[in-house]
Amino acid sequence: MQSVYTSLTLAVFALASSVPAQDEDARARNVILFIGDGMGLAQVAAASYAAGGQENSAGLFFESFPVTGYVTTHSADSFVTDSAAAATSMASGIKTANGALGVDVSGEPAVTILEQAEERGLATGLVTSVPIGHATPAAFYAHVSERGSVDAIIDAALSDPKIEVLLGGGLAVDELSSDEVFASAEAAAYTVLRPGDGALLAEVSPGLRVFGIFDENGNRRLDYVAEHVSFESTEPRLVDLATAAVRSLSASETGFFLMVEGGAIDWASHDNEIGNTVDEVREFDAAIEAVCALLDGLGQLDETLIIVTADHETGGLTLPGPYRRTLTTGEIPSTEWSTGGHSGIPVGLWARGPHAEACAGRLDQTEIHGIMCRALGL
Ligand SMILES: [Zn+2]
Repeated sequence: MQSVYTSLTLAVFALASSVPAQDEDARARNVILFIGDGMGLAQVAAASYAAGGQENSAGLFFESFPVTGYVTTHSADSFVTDSAAAATSMASGIKTANGALGVDVSGEPAVTILEQAEERGLATGLVTSVPIGHATPAAFYAHVSERGSVDAIIDAALSDPKIEVLLGGGLAVDELSSDEVFASAEAAAYTVLRPGDGALLAEVSPGLRVFGIFDENGNRRLDYVAEHVSFESTEPRLVDLATAAVRSLSASETGFFLMVEGGAIDWASHDNEIGNTVDEVREFDAAIEAVCALLDGLGQLDETLIIVTADHETGGLTLPGPYRRTLTTGEIPSTEWSTGGHSGIPVGLWARGPHAEACAGRLDQTEIHGIMCRALGL
C-alpha cells in the first residue's frame, strides 16, 4: 500500500510543480474545495513523514501545490469551532454559531457558493467519505440552525435537486428510512447508486446526475484502509467517489464547483487513533492526486482553482517523538492527543490554479468563500 502511494506521488509531482505563472484576472473554469475534516498540521505531518521517514519523505501530493497559507477557524460564538460553523464560513463567507448550517447568527439563511454557482448555470457536486447530510457537505445546500436536523438536511438536498452530483460514504437519517431517501433521489431524476454499487462509480459518465451512498455495514462512512484488509470490505474509496464526480461535472460547458470532504480524518482523530488518521489523510491525498491527473487528461487542470484545507484541527494532536533519533521509513511519529474534541489551532491551506495567489499567508476561514467566488466570476 505504501509503495503505491509513494510512486503515485512521485509520478505526478512533476505535473504539480510545473505551474505556469498565473494571470491574476484569469477566470477559473472550475473550483474544487477539498476539506480534510479535522486535518491539522500534525495530522498532515504524521501522514507525510510516515510515507518516507524523515530522510526520504517527498511529502504528500497536495503539499507540492505552489501556494500555501494558514487559516484561523474560530466561529461566531466559540474559539473552537465545529464542522457546521466552519463549513458555513467557507460556503457562505460568514461567521456563525457552532451547530448552525447555512444560516447566520440570527438564523437567517446565508447564500452559499454552491447556490451562487447553480444560479449562474455551473454544475455542482458534493462528495464525502461520511454521511452526505453531515455538517461539512450540508453547509453548502441546507439552511438549518441545528446540524442534528438530519431529515430536514437530506430533504433540502432532494426537494430542490439542483446539485448534479451527491456522493456520500454514509447516510444519516432520523425518521426517514434509507429506502425513502433513495426513492426521493430517484423521483428527483438522479441515477441512484446504493450500498454495494461502488464498482459502478467507474462507469459514471460525463454529465450524469448521480446520487450515491456506499456504506455497506452501518458505520456511516467509507471503510478505513485497515478495514478493507481486515474484513475485505467491498466499499469504494474516496478516490473512486471524487474521480466519478469530476468525470461527471467536467462535461459542464460552463464549469463546475465541487467540494470533496475527507470526513473520516475527523472521526479517527476524535477516537485519537493515529493509524486510521494517517490512513485517512493519505486516502484524502490520493483522491486529490487522482483528481489532478484526471483534470490534466481532460485539459482542465490549469483552468481549475484547487484549494485544500481543513475546517478545524481535531484531537489537539502533537508529535513529541521520536526525540534524539530519526524517524525511519514507514514509522509513524509518536503521538499525544490533548482532547477527544476539536482544537482552535489554525489549519493549513494549499492551492493551485487561477487565483491561487490569493490564498497565501494568514487567512480567516471566511475569506475562502470570496476567493472561490472571484475565481469563478460569481
Ligand atoms: Zn469533529
